[in-house]
Amino acid sequence: MGLKQTDHTAWCGRGRYCQLGEHRSQPTRWQTPYGGIVATLVHNDATGRAYLELRASITIPANETAARRQAVAIATGVHHVIGRAVRTHTVRQITR
Ligand SMILES: [Zn+2]
Repeated sequence: MGLKQTDHTAWCGRGRYCQLGEHRSQPTRWQTPYGGIVATLVHNDATGRAYLELRASITIPANETAARRQAVAIATGVHHVIGRAVRTHTVRQITR
């Protein structure tokens, strides 16, 4: 089911986005009130698996204690949202 090494995915950005055994899409960027999010699709030739890579830049408080608290809250929230989205997707696949 994996792609041959020379086959690009439909979303591969080609050129500099495609190297070292990985096909990568051109990144999609969103500016938000808290900072920004960058999303990239990645397909690894060796494993045959595709991934969504997310990078978030979030403004945090200058106070270290508050910043640590907020970092934990953000990481926990992101974990729950991803877990819910992945479960929903899995259920859809099974019941199709
Ligand atoms: Zn490619």
